[in-house]
Parts: sequence; C-alpha cells; structure tokens
Amino acid sequence: MKILVSNDDGYLATGINVLTEALEAIADVVVVVAPDRNRSAASNSLTLKHPLRVSEVAPNRFKVDGTPSDCVHLALTGFLDFEPDLVVSGINHGANLGDDTIYSGTVAAAMEGRFLGLPTIAVSLVGNKLAHFNTAAAVAVELVQKIERAPFPSDVVLNLNVPNIPLSELKGVRATRLGFRHKSEQILRDTDPYGRPIYWVGPAGEGQDAGEGTDFFAIEQGFASVTPLKVDLTRHSAVKGLSDWLEPT
Ligand code: MN
Repeated sequence: MKILVSNDDGYLATGINVLTEALEAIADVVVVVAPDRNRSAASNSLTLKHPLRVSEVAPNRFKVDGTPSDCVHLALTGFLDFEPDLVVSGINHGANLGDDTIYSGTVAAAMEGRFLGLPTIAVSLVGNKLAHFNTAAAVAVELVQKIERAPFPSDVVLNLNVPNIPLSELKGVRATRLGFRHKSEQILRDTDPYGRPIYWVGPAGEGQDAGEGTDFFAIEQGFASVTPLKVDLTRHSAVKGLSDWLEPT
C-alpha cells in the first residue's frame, strides 16, 4: 500500500513523525507532504492568490508553505508521480471531537483525499501534556490494516480520536457519532505595545452533547473513537420542508 501522510501541526511535529514511522513498518511507500509550520484550525482552505513552494527535507518528506488542504491537493493533482492508495492525516496534537471537526486542518487534509478509492483517516491525540503518540499510531495502523483486508465505503472520512493513555490502558475502539461542544469561551481582550486593542479567540467549550454514542463519551470512558464523516453537508431531511416553505402562499 502507498500512503500519503499530512497534518496541520507542521512537518516537524512529533505526531506526524510518530505516525509516519509506524506506517512505514506496514506500507510499501509512505510519502509525507505537510505544512512548513503549524496551520491548525486552517479548515479546508486552499491558497489561490499566490504560488506554493515545496522543499524536500529528506527522501519522501516534503514541506509546503501552504495549508493542510494545499498539501494533499498538490500531492494528488500532479506533484507526486504516483497516486497514493490512502491519505492518513495526523497525529494531531489535541482533540478533534464534535464541532472541532469544522475548524480542523487535520480532518480537512484527510477530506482532501476523498477522491481516492479508499476511506481516508484523520488521527488525533486527546488530552493535555500529550505523551502517548504511540497509542494513537498503533490504533491508526490497525485501521489501515483493516482497510487493506476488508473493503469499506470509500466516501467516508474516518475521524479517529485516541485518549492520551498508554496502549495497555486503552479499552478498545468504538464507532461513534460527533457530539457537540458548548459555545466557546469569551474572547480575551488585551492591548498591543502601541495601545491598540487586540483579541484572542477563547478556548473551545466543553462537551455539551457528550452522552452515550458520542465521540466525547467514548474518549471519556477510555476508548478510542472512530466517527465516520461525510463531505455532503446537505440536511437531506429538510429538503422537502424547505421546498414547501418556499412555495408562494
Ligand atoms: Mn493541529
């Protein structure tokens, strides 16, 4: 299997390097195309107003002065001289649970691989003082091997979150749905050295819909969570109601 690895924390991050090493042990080819710096929360943005520069930092290791989506887009539309079978993104330094997924560059990089023939995988390590990247890498490797052995619908992004605990303490892997977070904390106001106001976006809220079946719940219980995501944002159940509502009255 030929695997393209990317992330949003940048090519120097511990997460992507641990993941790459783990995948190299089971794949024929692993190529890394990743941002040259931390581009977390870049979501699905593409760089259209200036060109992208790529540097090879080691054999099969490329850094790009662009977003996570740029990296995977570039790799799959002509930069690489072969088509990878699979895109794996991560290991993100931090959770991508619930509504994190709409801001996540990690998930976006995986999503950008949606036209390949296999499901794509986004991997995130959940917790503070992150130490157990090996746990997340082990579960990611398991998923890749499962995909290789048994077909699974290719239009699915598998959003894997793994708690920051040793592999021996991991209780298993659960199929989940996304939960929801509370509204994020208030912005933080400050003043720059010239007396002008500046603002920090506040931290994400805690899980609000974090009950049984959600990704939050699985992580809380010591399981890895895998949520199948789709790119189609249509709320299919509302199309009929909308059609009726649009009718002239
Ligand atoms: Mn990140």
